[in-house]
Amino acid sequence: MIDSKHLQLPDLKPGTVWLVGAGPGDPGLLSVLALHALGQADAVVYDALVDPRILALARSGSALEDAGKRGGRPSPRQPDISARLIALARAKQRVLRLKGGDPCVFGRGGEEALALAEAGIPFRIVPGITAAIGGLAYAGIPLTHRGINSAVTLITGHNSDGAVPGEEGSAPDWPAIARGSPVIVLYMALRHLDDIARRLIAAGRAPGEPVAIVSRATTAAQRVVLTTLAQSAVAATGVESPAIIAIGEVVRLHEALDWYGKE
Ligand code: SAH
Repeated sequence: MIDSKHLQLPDLKPGTVWLVGAGPGDPGLLSVLALHALGQADAVVYDALVDPRILALARSGSALEDAGKRGGRPSPRQPDISARLIALARAKQRVLRLKGGDPCVFGRGGEEALALAEAGIPFRIVPGITAAIGGLAYAGIPLTHRGINSAVTLITGHNSDGAVPGEEGSAPDWPAIARGSPVIVLYMALRHLDDIARRLIAAGRAPGEPVAIVSRATTAAQRVVLTTLAQSAVAATGVESPAIIAIGEVVRLHEALDWYGKE
């Protein structure tokens, strides 16, 4: 057992909100601060991607709220979630806002933090291991490898043009990414892989470039599908979400470094 007196962790105080990343799934990838907050929170407002094994670590007296299901509506608007966090804090609750991966990597953590800042609610941001980092580590694929790449791009493939609805104007410049980033990791891209792969090939990437699709990474259901850029959309059919997609020569290291479930 760890002797925690050396950690000197800050407390989650009543009337404050911690925006915490829960990592990609495996509870062992939680930060010490995240675990500490789970032990202190009065209210845990969580997203669909947070692993049930992590929610089970919340203190028995804490109220667990599914941010995706409040008010019976399937998908609440972001302002509703921010308003809920503010209301809970104003009611002097110790509020843990728990998100999959890292709160500020395609997780809208910045938006929620801005709303809290505007409302004058004290908050803390606790980073988490994002799916690209955790998922590729568990798939035995280094994100960077000497001699292969000195840059990597994390990108959302939510829409075919890469823009998340309501965020037009932030659509990625695929030809520039194809030229400038030897390794590309796509989030939320299963449905648009066909279009993205075509854009990358049109911009000069080799159709035979290796691709790994890592589904439900860091859980017992993790699956790694190896394919090529040209074949990737076909290979993605039937793959369960959530999944990240790694494109680039680092994917070849999976064969030698595939450790998960074998250690
Ligand atoms: N904030 C999160 C990302 C949220 S966007 C993070 O930092 O990881 C949701 C996308 O994340 C999914 O569509 C998928 O691409 C990726 N993702 C999240 N958890 C994952 C997991 N366990 N395995 C594979 N991909 C995952």
